[in-house]
Amino acid sequence: MKEHYDVIVVGTGAAGLYCALNLPERKKILMITKKEADQSDSFLAQGGICMLRGEADYNDYFEDTMRAGHYENNKKAVDLMIRSSNSIIRDLLMRNVDFERSEEGDLLFTREGAHSQPRILFHEDITGKEITSKLLEQAEKRENIEICEYMTMVDLISRDNICGGVVAMDEQDEIYDIRAPYVVLACGGLGGLYKNSTNFPHITGDALGIAMKHQIALENLDYIQIHPTTLYSKKPGRRFLISESVRGEGAHLCDRNGQRFTNELQPRDLLSKAIFAQMEKQDTEYVWEDMRPLGEDMIMKHFPNIFKRCLEEGYDVRKEPIPVVPAQHYFMGGIQVDLGSRTSMKGLYACGETSCNGVHGKNRLASNSLLESLVFARRAADDILFGKKPEPCRAGAIDRKCYEDRENLMAGYRKNVLNEIERMKNSHE
Ligand SMILES: Cc1cc2nc3c(=O)[nH]c(=O)nc-3n(C[C@H](O)[C@H](O)[C@H](O)COP(=O)(O)OP(=O)(O)OC[C@H]3O[C@@H](n4cnc5c(N)ncnc54)[C@H](O)[C@@H]3O)c2cc1C
Repeated sequence: MKEHYDVIVVGTGAAGLYCALNLPERKKILMITKKEADQSDSFLAQGGICMLRGEADYNDYFEDTMRAGHYENNKKAVDLMIRSSNSIIRDLLMRNVDFERSEEGDLLFTREGAHSQPRILFHEDITGKEITSKLLEQAEKRENIEICEYMTMVDLISRDNICGGVVAMDEQDEIYDIRAPYVVLACGGLGGLYKNSTNFPHITGDALGIAMKHQIALENLDYIQIHPTTLYSKKPGRRFLISESVRGEGAHLCDRNGQRFTNELQPRDLLSKAIFAQMEKQDTEYVWEDMRPLGEDMIMKHFPNIFKRCLEEGYDVRKEPIPVVPAQHYFMGGIQVDLGSRTSMKGLYACGETSCNGVHGKNRLASNSLLESLVFARRAADDILFGKKPEPCRAGAIDRKCYEDRENLMAGYRKNVLNEIERMKNSHE
């Protein structure tokens, strides 16, 4: 690792990788990530990625996104995301991303909750892995991109609200002072702060805590999405998601008496509320999801990994319902950015789940987040390339003593984020 780069990207999920790949090969780019490069939530995405299906679908897609977001969405961001979706998908296809097709070779689309039309491209039930592994493969081949694993950003370097780089630490607690005129935060959400989450436990909202330290504007930190259906388990650790497209394709939710009790395709926040209410009413720790209405063929073809994972936990979804419970899943709030993914600090960008451009409003529509991550990661790359160059950052040497007690430092960031979530929750009530 060197001391100077043209661009530092923090995070190797879909957002970070796509931003780096959209920068020209003459730019020297450093990507750092807390764990191995493939340990990001982007790899976990099951259901798929949305796409506008021609002009005839525009109004419906726009309305579905707005309705799910309780009409708090930034309309310009929604428009931009939807209008960019075709070029993003075309680019992914050119990057050899493989989506499900009919025998005639046409792309196939599935449907998820709160979508009025099937407009979601998928690859079995591992769409995120298919997209992100192809992006990672390409980034690894690019000579101008250096990927550094097990390297955690512990601070930003800045002066006079101009960003000049990051402070990072490796697994041996060695401290690195790395400089660049552009830094892109693509650090994902904050599921690791919660006991029950579908996210990787190391995704703990670090960028938010660091942004707070530097008075960088944040937005709607309390807009946290609970996914209605994760496989119930008494074991600690990451919760396994039962994708919304399972319900989109016809699975039922039932109470302890085997009775359906709600509309399975309502937006996630409303469905989670209905499930919690039913659990309370019947004093249970979960409800049941019945995949049998899909039929064995659909289960094995479209959801082979969900089938396999449930079998490992002792449930054969072809023959019996599975216990499911809502869990933390996604983060709609984040570091405030404009449509060019620029934060309130010069030279600093944020994209993907760590950022908030308002596209999701109060509640994200299923399968809009991979698309959003890619669209606004490319916007960040465009702004770095074509936007106004920030003045040079005049920050001096870092004070290494500040980082010696790493555990305390990171715990402080997490505590501040949780406090800010509570504060924003109260201000929204
Ligand atoms: C189980 C599951 C299923 C999902 N299904 C879908 C779906 O079907 N469709 C859809 O559109 N969306 C889905 N999502 C949401 C979607 O996957 C994420 O919103 C999106 O992938 C976020 O991408 P990202 O690049 O912003 O973050 P991530 O992919 O989470 O990457 C974050 C990166 O930041 C790194 N990082 C974090 N903190 C630091 C630090 N301090 N220093 C260095 N590196 C750091 C991490 O190591 C990681 O590399 C799903 C999410 C989950 C968890």
